[in-house]
Amino acid sequence: MLVPLNPILYKANKDNYAVIAVNVFNLETIRAAVEAAWEEKSPIILNFGELLGDITDIYDFADIVKIVASKYDIPVCTNLDHSLKYEESIKAIRAGFTSIMVDRSSQPYDINVQETQELVKIAHSVGVSVEAELGHVGLGEEYEGENKDSLTDPELAAYFVERTKIDALAVAIGTAHGLYKGTPNIDFDRLVQIKKMVKIPLVLHGGSMTGDQQLRKACELGITKINIGTDVDIAAMKGFNSQNIKPGWEFSKRTDLARQEMKNKIRHYIRIFGSDNRA
Ligand SMILES: [Zn+2]
Repeated sequence: MLVPLNPILYKANKDNYAVIAVNVFNLETIRAAVEAAWEEKSPIILNFGELLGDITDIYDFADIVKIVASKYDIPVCTNLDHSLKYEESIKAIRAGFTSIMVDRSSQPYDINVQETQELVKIAHSVGVSVEAELGHVGLGEEYEGENKDSLTDPELAAYFVERTKIDALAVAIGTAHGLYKGTPNIDFDRLVQIKKMVKIPLVLHGGSMTGDQQLRKACELGITKINIGTDVDIAAMKGFNSQNIKPGWEFSKRTDLARQEMKNKIRHYIRIFGSDNRA
């Protein structure tokens, strides 16, 4: 069933586990994520990136999720990931998304507060949850040169949450998006400090290639949502590029193998994050 982000993460925050958010963009990827969650009896968050609107129409996407989610008795959330444009956030709400991530993390602090506040007011008036980011999670390919200034300040985070009334906060504590140049290191001390100051659910972006151990520890220390894009994409491509596929219905066979590999990877992370049997 389709639900907002808020109840999914509220429960995760109370019972100390995290829920995976997977990047999806078509029927096959949506099914891979929802079936994996169903088999693990876990809640699931479907991340649709704003830029993916060029590949799949946002209204079509929302309709497909509604159909698929209605067939499974587990909590499913549709989240517009990294929404940079006001218009796209509104479109997602109108299309029936149950959550939006308002990303103004590259903007000055005051603009981040102001624009997030405005969208929270709109989203909450129709029961849609809002995630926002303070500090900035950068790109893995620039990881080695990344400076510490972009990490989340615990005190400012508490103030940001109080002012914006968001449902979940994405924190910058040492992970990055996409493939890493170098090894990711999570600043766990910072996470502990943030957790002391901020009572709403915390979100970790850039979970791929961070390693099971670090991710498990992040869950134990209070992260409640972890975004996994690249690792699931790599698994899908491994399936899609499988050897020994004979020509003839090749595309459909490869698509099915990609879906199976995605499922395996998602089920793996569900168990690492501890959300299995929590649906
Ligand atoms: Zn992200």
